[in-house]
Amino acid sequence: MAQQLMIANWKMNKTHDQAKDYMDILAQERLPSQVEVVICPPFTALGAVAAGAKASLSMVGAQNCSWAASGALTGEISPEMLMALTVKYVLVGHSERRSLFGESDDIVARKVQLLLQSALIPVLCLGETEQERDGNLTEEVLRRQLDAALPLTSDEASKIVIAYEPVWAIGTSRTANGEQVTAAMQLIRHYLATKYTAATAEAIPILYGGSVNLGNIASLAECPIDGALVGGASLNPQDFANLTRSFAVAKEL
Ligand code: PEP
Repeated sequence: MAQQLMIANWKMNKTHDQAKDYMDILAQERLPSQVEVVICPPFTALGAVAAGAKASLSMVGAQNCSWAASGALTGEISPEMLMALTVKYVLVGHSERRSLFGESDDIVARKVQLLLQSALIPVLCLGETEQERDGNLTEEVLRRQLDAALPLTSDEASKIVIAYEPVWAIGTSRTANGEQVTAAMQLIRHYLATKYTAATAEAIPILYGGSVNLGNIASLAECPIDGALVGGASLNPQDFANLTRSFAVAKEL
């Protein structure tokens, strides 16, 4: 079985002090040991999350990084800088980065490569827009995004995490239904098994993201997902801990 993961994406929320408070509360919660819990704060709160990670048994994640190792890139953050703050996972190609900041498939691919070279774990985000789903283009879009991001060896591919996040389900309260989630998981798993091996495909965690909350996590866990990428419902530490425990119980971990 692939590593089971629950990843909190705070997006542009919480200051350094608010992050510290969050981590103090998370440390009071019992998180299931079979699920790796990852907190992705804004860059400015990475230090606070890193300081509280050990006590709360969670890992540190970043929401983005540069496609270059260093250089004259004002405002960018490199993998080396993230590693110095004990970051383990980095989101790549989140739909908000793709749609609001012009992140192309090519840039996503460069980031994935650089992160792997830096021994950081890329969490590759994929997903179709509502228009693409309505136009029956979901499969084509997912294949295009996978093709672009994975010119990787089998060894490299086995070190990534994939998050299927239909764009129309992110921050909208419109979670994808079980059939839609299962179909996407099967498509991605089959793509990986064909490109690499069945064993590699089984070892890569594939998460679901898009309006995950306490009310839908149990039914989502019935789908072949290895965890979730959670935005809004991760902003409260008790809620996020509850979500993580509910996932572990529903998966019988
Ligand atoms: C996300 O930020 O990746 C996300 C899925 O957000 P939300 O859970 O709020 O839909």
